[in-house]
Formats: sequence, structure tokens, C-alpha cells
Amino acid sequence: MHMNLSLPDRANVVIVGGGIIGVSIAYYLAKKRVSDVLLLEQGVMGEGSTAKCVGGIRTQFSTEINIQFSQLSRRVFEGFEAEFGVDPEFHKIGYLFLAADHRQQKIIQDNACLMEGLDLEMELLDPEEIQRRWPFLRVDDVLTGSYTAYDGYLGPYEVLTGFISGARRLGAIFHEGIEVIGIDVERGKIQGVRTSTGERVKTQVVVNASGPYAAKVAELAGLDLPVCPLRRQVFFTDPFEDLPPAFPLVIDLKHGWYMRREGKGLILAGPQDSKSSFSEQVDFAGKEWAATRSVHRVPILKHARIARGWAGLYEISPDNHAIIGSFPEREGFICANGFSGHGFMHSPAAGILVAELITEGTARSLDIHPLRPQRFQQGDLIREPMTAFHD
Ligand SMILES: Cc1cc2nc3c(=O)[nH]c(=O)nc-3n(C[C@H](O)[C@H](O)[C@H](O)COP(=O)(O)OP(=O)(O)OC[C@H]3O[C@@H](n4cnc5c(N)ncnc54)[C@H](O)[C@@H]3O)c2cc1C
Repeated sequence: MHMNLSLPDRANVVIVGGGIIGVSIAYYLAKKRVSDVLLLEQGVMGEGSTAKCVGGIRTQFSTEINIQFSQLSRRVFEGFEAEFGVDPEFHKIGYLFLAADHRQQKIIQDNACLMEGLDLEMELLDPEEIQRRWPFLRVDDVLTGSYTAYDGYLGPYEVLTGFISGARRLGAIFHEGIEVIGIDVERGKIQGVRTSTGERVKTQVVVNASGPYAAKVAELAGLDLPVCPLRRQVFFTDPFEDLPPAFPLVIDLKHGWYMRREGKGLILAGPQDSKSSFSEQVDFAGKEWAATRSVHRVPILKHARIARGWAGLYEISPDNHAIIGSFPEREGFICANGFSGHGFMHSPAAGILVAELITEGTARSLDIHPLRPQRFQQGDLIREPMTAFHD
């Protein structure tokens, strides 16, 4: 990936960060025939949150904008192999949310209305029906479930690879091992970036696609961006013989716990920190948290063994929605940040919309005004009742 080549003197667009968001933006810019798109990644492509992601994609959300992002992205995922020549390994196992109290029940009932208005099918299931379909689930503390059969998961590595090869075929340039350490601004306009290799690249457009590092990169341009890194742990069981052949990605709204099958084992969600940090350590308390909630919901799991775990960083915004757009005081600085744990599933939409914003001055495919960075100063935050939950 151009490890030893020197950087070009200038680029039309410099993208900071080679995670799923950066590579998607690179692809859609190149597809719109933007030449000299340069992406700089401080480490190895995809090594950040993207490498830690469990690949879930869902349409069940409490806000229209998130559902629209899911719909736009789904169209890309459905046709991914034809467009990119890479099988993204789309497993449509379904998503099942479980509500344990009246507040959570109201949330998923409201979601059902919202989704119906957007022509999306969602089934509301009572505990008896849940038990009939998935007898291994414990439901005595469940009031209602909401099920979308067409949701599921894809391979983050496959999708990342597809975007990278697609973008490179169309002329985008990627460099690994290069950190952006400075952003030059004159009279409020972006002039270029400075890198850890001592090189400078002139450009009038910088895209912040640095995931959990978003606030640091914005700071290089003198901007305040409220994105916090938050650790989430995940665990993985050994192959487990008693596993039913098929079951959905199950989510307990009460605990923010989830589980899905991966090969002959299971991925079990661990806890999400409440305090922001860049820690990516797995700890015993996290393993216990995952084990307790897993055995509670799926009692046969008492025979399973947790083999290993990992932790990654969510990139949380104050209202748990992405921050996409530019700053009036910093012409040429575009952010695509704060996806709050949904960046993988929304990466195609993010790429399409940011490419439109840069080339046409406005995002044509969707109204992204609610996601503008200024909403925080303006006190116009998006209300999301399902905030406690990220996947
Ligand atoms: C445990 C876990 C499970 C998840 N599961 C899901 C899921 O099921 N579904 C879903 O949709 N989302 C999920 N997510 C969230 C998802 O992984 C993220 O939203 C997504 O990967 C964000 O992508 P990104 O490109 O913005 O960030 P990243 O993948 O972190 O990429 C940012 C890149 O920027 C680079 N960078 C930072 N600063 C600089 C700099 N100054 N110069 C150069 N490069 C820089 C970093 O090295 C990094 O590679 C999960 C996250 C975690 C932690």
C-alpha cells in the first residue's frame, strides 16, 4: 500500500484515517471522478475500530435519519459483490430486540410505527411466540420482542477490502504508516496537511475519518468536535455442540447485551464503559458480565466456554448520532465522525453522502442537516430513546 513512496505535493482531497468510513469516502469520491484523492492512515488500513467490529447491520432504530442511513447502506451491501467483486458474506440471520419493561416496550412499539411509515417490515412478538420460534431463549422476563428477518451481519474485513480495491482501481491513493500531525489553515480556509514523515501535502479539502481520534484531528484544525472514545468488550466462545443451527442476533435492551453465532461458536457482547478512554484492554469483570447475561438469556450456554475476548473503541457523539458536514469557520474541513457504534453498517451511506457534499456542495441522497456539527452549539440534538444501546 505505497509504504515507501513519497507523498504527492498536492491532492484534491486528503482523507485522514483508513477505517471503514475513510475507505468508503475514498471510493465514492473516486467513483464521482474526483482525481488525486489521497488517504493517509497512521497504522495499517482498518486496524482501528473497524477491526474490532462484529459486523452487525440493522434497520431497527428510533430515529428516521438512522433508518434512512441503514436503507441507503443496505442497497450497497445487497449489490456489493456485483459492484466490488468481493463477497461481503452477508448473513441474513435477523435481529431480535427484547424489551423487559414498559419503557423498553414502548420504544420498540414506536420503532415499529416509524419503520412502517418507511415501508419497512418489523414483527412485534409476544414471549410465547419468541419461545416457539427460538426455544433456547429464556423469556420469562420479556414483555415483547421486535424482529427484522432481513437484518444480519457482514464481514468487516471483506467490506473494507472491497472499498479499498474499488477506490484504488478508480485512482485513489492510500498510504499506511503516515500520521497527519498538522493541518494548515489560512484566513479560515484549509491549505494542507503536515505528516509524521515531515512531508506536506497541499489541499483545500480535508476529511476527518479518524474514528475515535476524531476530536484530536479536529483540534489540529482548531476545531472543537465532541466525539469521545468509549471501550466496548466482546467475547467469543469455543465451538459449542449444543448450538441450535440458526438463530438471530439477539439483543437485550435492558443490559445492552447481545449475542450472535460465529461459525461453531458465539460472539457475546461484553460491557461498554461509561467513562471515556482509549483503553482497549479486556478484563475479567468484562468476561463475567458477558457470561452472566449470556447464561441468563440462553441457559444452555452454561456448558459453553469463553475462549477469548477483545475490546475496541466506540466513537460516541453527545446524541449518539453521526456528525457529518463542514464548519462555516473552517472552509474545506469535512467531518464524518461520531457514528456511535454504527459506523460499519452506515459506512456506505456515509461515503455516498460525503462524496456528494464535496462534489455538489450538498448531500443529495438524504437530508443530513440534522447531523451537522453545529447542532451541539445550537442545542438541536437528536433525540434517540435507544441511546443505551450500541452494536
Ligand atoms: C467491539 C465493537 C463492536 C462493533 N460492532 C459494530 C457492529 O456490529 N456494527 C456496526 O455498524 N458498527 C460496529 N462497531 C462500530 C464500528 O466498528 C465503528 O463505528 C467503525 O469501525 C468506525 O469506523 P471509522 O473508519 O470511523 O474508524 P476506525 O476504524 O477507527 O478508523 C479510523 C482510522 O483513523 C486512523 N487515524 C486516526 N488518527 C489519525 C491521524 N492523525 N493520521 C492518520 N490516521 C489516523 C486510525 O489509525 C484508524 O485506523 C463496533 C465497534 C466496536 C468497538
